[in-house]
Amino acid sequence: SRTVVIVGRPNVGKSRLFNRLAKKRISIVHDQPGVTRDVIMTEIKDGDYTLLDTGGLGFKDGNITPAKLIDASETQVGFAIDTADLILFVVDGLEGMTALDLKIAQMLRKSKKDVLLVVNKADFNEDKIDLAEAYRLGLGEPVRVSAEHGANEGVLRDAILTKLGPIPLEDLPDRSAEKPLCVCFIGRPNVGKSSLSNRLLDSDRLIVSDVPGTTRDAVSLDFQFKGRDGAMYPFKLIDTAGIKAATKLASPVEYFSRLRSLDSIKETDVVFLVLDAMDGVTQQDKAIAGEAVKEKKPIVIIVNKWDLVKKTFEKDGGIPGYKSERDYREKYEKAVFERLFFTPGSPLIFVSAMSGYEIDRMLNAAVKLNRTLDIKISTAKLNKIIGYLAERTPPPAVGGKRFRVYYATQTGTRPFRIKIFCNREEKLTEQYRRYLESGMVDEFGLNGCPIYFDLVGKE
Ligand code: GDP
Repeated sequence: SRTVVIVGRPNVGKSRLFNRLAKKRISIVHDQPGVTRDVIMTEIKDGDYTLLDTGGLGFKDGNITPAKLIDASETQVGFAIDTADLILFVVDGLEGMTALDLKIAQMLRKSKKDVLLVVNKADFNEDKIDLAEAYRLGLGEPVRVSAEHGANEGVLRDAILTKLGPIPLEDLPDRSAEKPLCVCFIGRPNVGKSSLSNRLLDSDRLIVSDVPGTTRDAVSLDFQFKGRDGAMYPFKLIDTAGIKAATKLASPVEYFSRLRSLDSIKETDVVFLVLDAMDGVTQQDKAIAGEAVKEKKPIVIIVNKWDLVKKTFEKDGGIPGYKSERDYREKYEKAVFERLFFTPGSPLIFVSAMSGYEIDRMLNAAVKLNRTLDIKISTAKLNKIIGYLAERTPPPAVGGKRFRVYYATQTGTRPFRIKIFCNREEKLTEQYRRYLESGMVDEFGLNGCPIYFDLVGKE
């Protein structure tokens, strides 16, 4: 959605104008979704844009000195230049242009952003308002309004829509059936990556071997999968030599094979992280998962060789310390949750390459996750959730200061990308970043899909 930001020095009537356009009264506006009171926002449905008032931004305490006023205005205008598709610059028609107005106008001209100049307080005596002065700001034709009484409201709405241009078509990338879903298996040697590949391809084109590290290097193969909905989904499997944790690298050959594996991660839509059902979650699994997370790739966690667990409980008297297959599975899940806590709520699927158990479920999970990757979240909803998360668990103070979010907006898919305008980017701790990420993953059903945060600090 497009973003329109209101700027202007204090008392020119910015919040009145905001309320007028939002068709709301001030008391209601303060309850609107907005992460802090520094930036207030609302969705303007009939124009398909988000309107922001930055009036509170940059004022840290009530005491407004002239120096602080200039600082705050710079912060607000900088924020608007970074965020807005269109900036509404409000001036006071009764009072006329002040030095600060000229300074703001200069910043706006330099930014080359689309600006609509709004001359407010045109309600008393229109003749008294000197539009020539407004024209001299060099920001094009001004619109004269009265935010208080509503004069020229329609003219202003039209001018905003004209400046914004037509509502853009949904620009979701075309994920039509022809585009194959690229997947790869990553994991330690011997967890069953090649066996899973073979199971998928139902052929002997890939080499399976008992000797660790004998999987062939990157090859890619295409196959079709009939999804839960009956549709045929084309897949492209990128087979890799498996990523090895850096500390375990023995030879230069292994080193280069590792690099190639990382390259194939880059090409994939969904990564299958393979674990061994009998071994549990090892340190090396954790390192490998870390590589995929670093690449911001969606991950499905696969626990392979489940047939062995079944067999042990059915025929060989079980595994000491576990009551049943189910008990083992629950504890395994818990271990994954604890040790791979940094994955973004990835689905966990227990399979067997040997017997074919739950292989379909594994592919269905990839199909579902692949769809999730194109999700677009409305700006209002996103900010509401961030506001909620921040209220539930406030950010920790770092060096006496807390991280504060002013406003967030989704800027991309694959990876899911969010731009966050905040006070200071360095105040976001890794732990709190993960808290925000997992909160959003839960809230928007993005399980397995990592979120990329672009932080822009503006204090
Ligand atoms: P990779 O190194 O990860 O590619 O592992 P491989 O696919 O080469 O498999 C390593 C060993 O585990 C081989 O002996 C496979 O036969 C065995 N294996 C793989 N998947 C399964 C499975 O689902 N069940 C059982 N019982 N053995 C498996």
